[in-house]
Amino acid sequence: MHAGFPDFRLGNVLATSFTGTLSERHGNAVERIPTPHRLIDWLAVNGLAVDSCTTAQLGLARELRESIHAAATAAAIQDALPASAVQVINDRSAQGRAAATLTPEGQRRWRLSSASCVEDALGVIAADAISIIAGERDGKLALCASPTCQAAFFDTSQSRTRKWCDMNTCGNRQKKARFNANQHKNPRSAE
Ligand SMILES: [Zn+2]
Repeated sequence: MHAGFPDFRLGNVLATSFTGTLSERHGNAVERIPTPHRLIDWLAVNGLAVDSCTTAQLGLARELRESIHAAATAAAIQDALPASAVQVINDRSAQGRAAATLTPEGQRRWRLSSASCVEDALGVIAADAISIIAGERDGKLALCASPTCQAAFFDTSQSRTRKWCDMNTCGNRQKKARFNANQHKNPRSAE
């Protein structure tokens, strides 16, 4: 539908899927929500459909995203949370008026106060970030081992030893790099 824009990375944790809309922060950064319309698309994919989004609302979303990234990174390395990031997360959480609703099938759906309320959707994302940073959920915040990525992700693996934010991108690239390095060292064993 929106050819030419970078794909979204899908994850099962809302807050870190959201921070993943900017990737390769320490390399050639890829912005996956470059326009208000792409934010609308991302929210729809994540169960937070809105009808419209202004440039100012996209600005709020990106500010929240980078604040979650900063706070989650600090939490992952057990550093003090940056006060400005905490403030933004709390402001977005307080401003949102989304309601959790239960479907007859027993699933949770978010109901936004109006279809134009990007702020409601951001409130849901901010609350999700709070729950993982506060350590309320089963899992551990960690940083991606890829030097160009270093994204904060939520490790829910049994052993809590996940190394990459995303197996299909950072994980694969790292594996390939190691494979090529080994081939270079032992050219004959590569056959
Ligand atoms: Zn990564």
